[in-house]
Amino acid sequence: MTTSSESFAPRRSEPIFGRLAIIGIGLIGSSIAHAAKELNLAGRIVLSDRDEAVRARARELGLGHEIAETALEAVRDADHIILCVPVGACGVVAAEIAPALKPGAILSDVGSVKNAVVEAVMPHLPEGVHFVPAHPVAGTENSGPDAGFPSLFLNRWCILTPPEGTDATAIARTRQFWEGMGALVEIMTAQHHDLVLAITSHLPHLIAYNIVGTAEDLAAVTQSEVIKFSAGGFRDFTRIAASDPTMWRDVFLHNKEAVLEMLGRFSEDLSVLTRAIRFGDGETLHKHFTRTRAIRRGIVALGQEKPETEKLRKS
Ligand code: NAP
Repeated sequence: MTTSSESFAPRRSEPIFGRLAIIGIGLIGSSIAHAAKELNLAGRIVLSDRDEAVRARARELGLGHEIAETALEAVRDADHIILCVPVGACGVVAAEIAPALKPGAILSDVGSVKNAVVEAVMPHLPEGVHFVPAHPVAGTENSGPDAGFPSLFLNRWCILTPPEGTDATAIARTRQFWEGMGALVEIMTAQHHDLVLAITSHLPHLIAYNIVGTAEDLAAVTQSEVIKFSAGGFRDFTRIAASDPTMWRDVFLHNKEAVLEMLGRFSEDLSVLTRAIRFGDGETLHKHFTRTRAIRRGIVALGQEKPETEKLRKS
């Protein structure tokens, strides 16, 4: 079914979907459009965005095959529809497009929180339309139509969280689509997803937003020293804390319980470290840092991150 080419992943000789509709032309929407076009994953790719300036820019960039004026127009006759809007907007957009969804179509999304999206979208799902929620665990701190690139999902996980009873063929085709973009696909419940992502993604972002805010408050006292000496750790935090404010506001508002649970555990563990520093307990600190170093090495070994030395050689 696939033919080799110079693309970053195999280009298909036959598309998976006839018509693909992408609603929301930001980092994720534009990246899917690039990849799906380059790899021939859909015969026709139609995008839409609520912002006229974004639609105009998408046309200039040549995203997909067509930019529709409205979401309703974009999804008409589509076989696969992907909502690429903030988590809090998924329900509203689903309600808006529902009348134009054809029976047999597969509706999906890319939200970073899954349970709230399932609850918001399901009541609007027309008879005969399948809903297969997805979360590509891939991104950058950039947003908007210019931010996208085709290899964003290559070797990154994409988690599917189909509600119980979802049509098996719809799940298989959604999996095939993401695998077609080079992603590694895993299936789990929306609840489990939200708990796992609370610790692996949501809490680290909250910490980054917080530490950069604290440093900025200090910067008023220490002039430009915070920026000047921002090598290493702090610079990485500033990159994460530059992530889209709307997207992350919605993540915390819609994954409240899991984030609060993880934040509670984090605070308890932080108290242990605080105590160790206060009482000069080097053994506790050393033991802890040794354990976390092993976790980092495990991530590198799994291929989800490159060692810093290799990154430096490439840059
Ligand atoms: P983005 O670059 O900021 O794009 C978001 C898009 O959604 C924009 O086109 C925006 O339109 C549109 N939008 C915002 N509010 C809307 C509303 N109320 N109704 C309709 N459209 C609206 O964001 P993104 O990074 O692509 O994120 C999109 C989704 O992907 C989010 O659900 C996010 O959780 C998920 N995700 C993001 C990442 C990441 O690292 N960025 C990774 C994985 C998953 P305007 O231009 O008019 O605001």
